[in-house]
Amino acid sequence: MAFDALQYEICEDNIEFRLIAPDTWMLTTKLLEPFSSDCYLLSGDESAVIIDTGMIRHLNLKEYILELKLTDKPIIGAIATHSHFDHTGGNGWFGHAWMHKNSVYGATHPFGGNADGYILDYPIDIIKEGDVIDLGNRRLEFIEIGAHDLGSVAILDKDRRILFTGDELETGWINIGSTTPEKVPGQTIETHYKNMQKLKARYDEYDIICPGHHGAPIDKSSIDDFLKCDEMILSGVPGDPYVPRKNGGERFRSIPHIKVMRYRMAHICYRDDRIFEDK
Ligand SMILES: [Zn+2]
Repeated sequence: MAFDALQYEICEDNIEFRLIAPDTWMLTTKLLEPFSSDCYLLSGDESAVIIDTGMIRHLNLKEYILELKLTDKPIIGAIATHSHFDHTGGNGWFGHAWMHKNSVYGATHPFGGNADGYILDYPIDIIKEGDVIDLGNRRLEFIEIGAHDLGSVAILDKDRRILFTGDELETGWINIGSTTPEKVPGQTIETHYKNMQKLKARYDEYDIICPGHHGAPIDKSSIDDFLKCDEMILSGVPGDPYVPRKNGGERFRSIPHIKVMRYRMAHICYRDDRIFEDK
């Protein structure tokens, strides 16, 4: 047994996992750090990868997956949906990661700067639009969709017909351009809308969507809710200035121009002075 009792306790208390499709596990990290995320272990005929890795410290997530025998294929690395450390903090345990070039800095710099309990010097391969990784009859294609984060990629599981969307299309809440001190080109509703249209154009290539937070899988028609929500913002429908507690509460409410737009399952937190790229 690779784990001692304390490590097992950390795992049992902080990771939920369930099989959501054949050879496809969802692992949700929780509690021990202020942020949780939903990670996905995918196995093909020859190898396995994990999409996002959470940010629990001092926890060898790969060893835990192997202990539980969630896959009998070699896990060849982690794929980052985007840079944010609640998705990339565990990458080091997998010995190798793929990510967009805009994700490298964030993935190797923990929130708040405390690196204790993380491995940050792992090798990274840069991925870009159209690149494909083949796990053996399971091809994963990358689609660039940066807006919440400029390193965001969607991962289209072409053979199992699943779309992984990270934090650009979540179960409920997303955050577009609302928290950086300065306006960042690309982090606008206009760009998010274009990216959602790009995913909509591939609509007949996937059946379900697996986002980065709050539970999965979700029906692919959820993308229509996000398109509609973006359209409402772009067309000048006024957003709600009150950010509810579960979405950041007072900390977010103090941000200038902060607004929330809701349409069915799509709730977008944004700034009304960062809707368009050129204004
Ligand atoms: Zn994020």
